[in-house]
Amino acid sequence: MVLEGLSESLKKTLSKITGSLYVDEKLINELVKDIQRALLQSDVNVQLVLEITKNIKERALKEKTPKTINKREHLINIVYEELVNFLGKGDHKTLIDQIKTKNINKQPYKIMLVGLFGSGKTTTTGKLANYFKKRGIKTAVITTDTWRPAAYDQLEQTAKKINIDFYGNKEEKNPAKIYSQFEKQLQEYDLILIDTAGRDALNNELVEELQLLNKTVNPDESFLVISGDIGQTAQKQATAFHDNANVKGVIITKLDGTSKGGGALAACSVTGAPVRFLGTGEKTDDLEEFKPEGFVGRLLGMGDLEALLEKTKEAFTEEDAEEMQEKLMKGNFSLQDLYDQMKAMKKMGPLNKVLEMIPGLSQANIPKDVLKQQEGKIDKWKFLMDSMTQKEKDDPEIITGKRIERISKGSGQPSSEIRALLKQYRQSKKMMKMMKGGSGSEKDMQKMMQKMQKGGMKGFKF
Ligand code: GDP
Ligand code: MG
Repeated sequence: MVLEGLSESLKKTLSKITGSLYVDEKLINELVKDIQRALLQSDVNVQLVLEITKNIKERALKEKTPKTINKREHLINIVYEELVNFLGKGDHKTLIDQIKTKNINKQPYKIMLVGLFGSGKTTTTGKLANYFKKRGIKTAVITTDTWRPAAYDQLEQTAKKINIDFYGNKEEKNPAKIYSQFEKQLQEYDLILIDTAGRDALNNELVEELQLLNKTVNPDESFLVISGDIGQTAQKQATAFHDNANVKGVIITKLDGTSKGGGALAACSVTGAPVRFLGTGEKTDDLEEFKPEGFVGRLLGMGDLEALLEKTKEAFTEEDAEEMQEKLMKGNFSLQDLYDQMKAMKKMGPLNKVLEMIPGLSQANIPKDVLKQQEGKIDKWKFLMDSMTQKEKDDPEIITGKRIERISKGSGQPSSEIRALLKQYRQSKKMMKMMKGGSGSEKDMQKMMQKMQKGGMKGFKF
């Protein structure tokens, strides 16, 4: 994961929310401070930090929580949405679609990579070629860098390694002429990546050179390649290239080796040239397409949480939950309910996977064999319950001595199993009461889990 540091501090902040009993102004203020600290540590510009946290705070205090989620989930969602909003300004069409659309008329899509010395243009040209080739796009690379002696060889070698056609002319000094020279041959590709020369700064010389190239090449996109380690100063560079070199998108490189990546990312997101790719290492595969939703989701460690919510929906409908709630209020939680509930849980996947996905519980560290045992139980329970009368299932408290013997015989299970089931039923009922009305928190759950782990509350079940 890139931006590891930022991700860790944001996740810690969010786990405070999930671990809290209720959402109040104090918690919101604390959250806002934490997020500010995390963003500033990642070199995000102070103004931007204030802007984003102001939005979060205002929404958190004013917005009504939708019926389908609880307040904590709502708060997390606000943080998520505001971060996405922030990093996602601009146009995030998928490049593949754009390339294919252009190709319909037998025309190659042209991407020019521009930027300062050492920002990673040539490396990224190779990475992009590899990325699109893997997606079935016929790609060629061409170097127009006549400035650095080794530029030609560097791209040629990279291209060879990934089996991509390479074009260039070591003798020619005029970058635009190099492109013109191969223009005809290049028509047969779906995508042409044009590597360019850099300078130490965006000076007149570079601006002129890029403008001339722009005129000759007429690229569909010019991507600014910028090194993530410059943090928030990326904004100045991105703006300058956007204004003078027709740059419409940014690729931020070297995010693997810097704690300032958040700053660069935030800075570029507000320049009108959205971030399109991230460079995350020196190898050809170290490239990812930047999509704000997925990126922020992973940053906050929410990918799994979302998956869980999705699964919960499938396994246990809202109606089921309401029905269960009603029964609880009336105090008649039956064995059948316990069984249904377990079945719903089982549908969600192996129990340990389910627990991993719940923030707060993932740290509970429940021994694997305990979980396995729980999963196996549900089948046994089915046998036991098949041998019970409806009355017994509705009111398990009446199951004593003689009844236990009868059920044991009927089901072929030892009476100890029946006692274990009854014990589990009572514990679950207690637990359900605790969670009643949604006032229970993950903290309570976590406590229960830890207790179970320590004391071997063997029969415990949801
Ligand atoms: P150019 O002058 O803009 O063409 O930059 P190069 O492509 O030659 O890259 C300059 C240096 O940065 C090289 O040593 C690359 O290996 C390195 N580099 C480029 N992208 C990344 C990246 O995403 N992560 C890391 N760690 N190094 C990178
Ligand atoms: Mg280069």
